[in-house]
Amino acid sequence: MLDARKLQVAHSAMVTDIAIVGAGPAGALAAGQLARAGARVRLFDASHPREKPCGGGITRRAAALVASTWNPVDAPAVCIRSARFEAGPLMTTGATAADLPAPRGRRDPARVVQFPLHGPGEELVVVDRASFDGSLLAGAVSAGAVHVRERVIEVAPGPQGVDVRTRSGTTRASILVGADGAASLVRRRLTVPFGRSDLSMATGYFIRGLTDSRVVIRCLSRPAGYIWSFPRANHLAVGICAQANATDVATLRDVVRTWMAGAGIPLTAPLDSYSWPIPSLLPTAFDRQEIAGQRWMLLGDAAGLADPLTREGIYFALRSGELAAQALSGSGGCTRYETSVRDELYGELRRASQLKAGFFTSGFTELLVDALERSEAVREVMSDLIRGVQSYRGLARRLMGTLEVGLAWRLLSLELGSRLSA
Ligand SMILES: Cc1cc2nc3c(=O)[nH]c(=O)nc-3n(C[C@H](O)[C@H](O)[C@H](O)COP(=O)(O)OP(=O)(O)OC[C@H]3O[C@@H](n4cnc5c(N)ncnc54)[C@H](O)[C@@H]3O)c2cc1C
Repeated sequence: MLDARKLQVAHSAMVTDIAIVGAGPAGALAAGQLARAGARVRLFDASHPREKPCGGGITRRAAALVASTWNPVDAPAVCIRSARFEAGPLMTTGATAADLPAPRGRRDPARVVQFPLHGPGEELVVVDRASFDGSLLAGAVSAGAVHVRERVIEVAPGPQGVDVRTRSGTTRASILVGADGAASLVRRRLTVPFGRSDLSMATGYFIRGLTDSRVVIRCLSRPAGYIWSFPRANHLAVGICAQANATDVATLRDVVRTWMAGAGIPLTAPLDSYSWPIPSLLPTAFDRQEIAGQRWMLLGDAAGLADPLTREGIYFALRSGELAAQALSGSGGCTRYETSVRDELYGELRRASQLKAGFFTSGFTELLVDALERSEAVREVMSDLIRGVQSYRGLARRLMGTLEVGLAWRLLSLELGSRLSA
């Protein structure tokens, strides 16, 4: 429990002590923990209830952070017991989208491996974001945070506090928390916005009336990235992601529709399309990030805290919310928050970024499929990676232990090669 007496919010002229912009996982979790500690928290977000463009995969490490307020058994969540991993060029219909252009109607030549994702209580869980984020927001409100159902249109820090403007007026806070996602207004106003090389583009479809019992992951080398199919209670979330400066939404849509057709998903099914950026920083970009100042801090996607390789962001959003609440209850405030993020999260994110360039090559994914086919131990490592139990630190060493030395060595050289060329 945080100590309310230590909260750094004691500016007498303040109408509001802590203003949080954005009630996604990062903002809602920070709001709940700060309110529970006794802070006066205003949480600005006009979007709820809403579905955020997302796969909705909740890894074990993310689920652990919300275990006290969120139970996947009560929520409309799907526990995933197996994964289908595919690799190989995709026969697209459009020349622009070609991984390897091929005549229409040819069978998808992917290499495919299926494996279990461990037993009950340890699975990957897939949620719809309307109910997951809604339950975190409800938890924050019941802890005492005030939900302001308005969009923030301007923020302005000054010597007396930070002004937060919406269409109905201006509120002053002593601390401003920007948890407003990848297109963050707070980030754009207070520090350097993301460039295209810092972002992935993700696009896809929610396919109503279809579901599955497994996740499907299809690695691609052109464009370098992957397709996913995550089953939810009453629909499939299918999507594709690749670096934003290497492709465009139309190309990605063409690739994912080609995959859907090959997977037997009727393109005539009710499809809701979406596109949204995900921060995917280059290894060198982490050092340049400014995620806190005297009276402000950035959380989650707004701070660039998403895994550049898998694009997992919910865990990092939640953890940054927790670190923010802890920092504001201690003596270091915004500075301590920045230090905690650098110390705890940047190492893992930088490693993912170092691996990314080589991971989505056909050479690497072929090697991976070979090892997955051969080795039960490698399938277990992969299961742990997908479920968010295995970190990148120690991954190569664990792979060495499976005796798949070629794969472990290749992984190490991807990481080292990227470090040397940085
Ligand atoms: C297609 C796609 C698939 C993904 N799949 C996964 C996955 O399966 N698993 C995973 O872990 N991660 C996934 N991610 C990443 C994950 O969605 C994000 O990392 C995560 O949602 C970040 O949480 P956040 O709280 O920082 O921001 P967000 O969840 O983006 O929340 C930001 C909130 O701020 C609000 N907001 C924005 N601007 C303002 C404003 N001016 N005023 C008030 N409110 C504002 C928004 O309405 C929103 O509610 C995916 C991302 C995408 C795009």
